[in-house]
Amino acid sequence: MKLPAFEYACPTRLSEAVALLAARNGDAKLIAGGQSLVPMLAFRLAAPALLVDLRKLPELRKIEISTKGVVLGSMVRWCDILAHARLGDAHPLLLAAVAHVAHYQIRNRGTIGGSIAHADPAAEIPGIVLSCEAEIATVGTAGPRVIKAADFFVGPLMTVLEPDEIIVEIRFPAWPAQRRWGFQEFARRRGDFAMAAVAVWYDQDDGGKARDAHVGAIGVGDRPQRLSAVEAVLNGRSIDDATIAQAEAAACAAVDPQADIHASADYRRALVGTMVERALKSACSGSSKS
Ligand SMILES: Cc1cc2nc3c(=O)[nH]c(=O)nc-3n(C[C@H](O)[C@H](O)[C@H](O)COP(=O)(O)OP(=O)(O)OC[C@H]3O[C@@H](n4cnc5c(N)ncnc54)[C@H](O)[C@@H]3O)c2cc1C
Repeated sequence: MKLPAFEYACPTRLSEAVALLAARNGDAKLIAGGQSLVPMLAFRLAAPALLVDLRKLPELRKIEISTKGVVLGSMVRWCDILAHARLGDAHPLLLAAVAHVAHYQIRNRGTIGGSIAHADPAAEIPGIVLSCEAEIATVGTAGPRVIKAADFFVGPLMTVLEPDEIIVEIRFPAWPAQRRWGFQEFARRRGDFAMAAVAVWYDQDDGGKARDAHVGAIGVGDRPQRLSAVEAVLNGRSIDDATIAQAEAAACAAVDPQADIHASADYRRALVGTMVERALKSACSGSSKS
């Protein structure tokens, strides 16, 4: 289908990009990889007067790894993350989740900033950003701001971003090498959006008990969600079969998914429990795979 007509700008300075957005008062959109926006235009779900292309802003492409954590520029593409020599050690959960995002061609263009701004409830990385307590750094006419992932997503395809605000970078806290984690996803085909996915991580105290457990669910609500009831089951406990069974039951009780053409609500609820069970088993075996 042909796209609606739009004007196009490709600024070389971030401040110029902000000014271009601000001048249109909500009738302009950023374009990053175009892998979500172009289909939206084709289906007339969006018809902005102006597209502001971010591709000539090299400062949005940085990947920094330090003792403080991992910082990814918003224009970092899925393929950049997967190909990076050190990201797999610096943030293995992020890598495991990105491996489920879309297909080869889409991963060559799609960006982490675009995915977070698009806020598809079934997308993997918004769930990872939330479960890892990442921060989203932005700039707009009101200046820079840093938004906690927990405050960022407000509904399906909805965030707290202002129309003139640009995601600059995503900051993940440091990831200790000994941290236990698991990521599990169920999709109809590898690379499809998740029917349900779960990210789990926890640290262990000297006695081997879990502490600071984080559990995120993807694809079973109007936005990614933390499952605090499951985290409460895990904290202070050994992750054995009995704990995993309780965590699975708590996960099923904690979510309230909608039925759609892919699955009933009950099926999705059961799927979340199974994903929690599998993610915990891989986390406690220390050989987390997704
Ligand atoms: C066939 C297909 C399968 C896919 N499967 C998956 C999947 O399994 N999992 C998954 O997570 N995704 C999937 N995607 C989506 C893909 O990952 C997209 O690339 C991603 O969601 C959006 O990134 P983008 O860079 O293409 O953003 P764009 O499409 O360019 O932009 C998306 C939205 O974000 C806004 N935006 C972009 N950059 C910024 C920024 N820096 N600051 C503020 N707003 C910004 C745009 O204005 C637009 O509203 C799939 C896409 C396709 C076409």
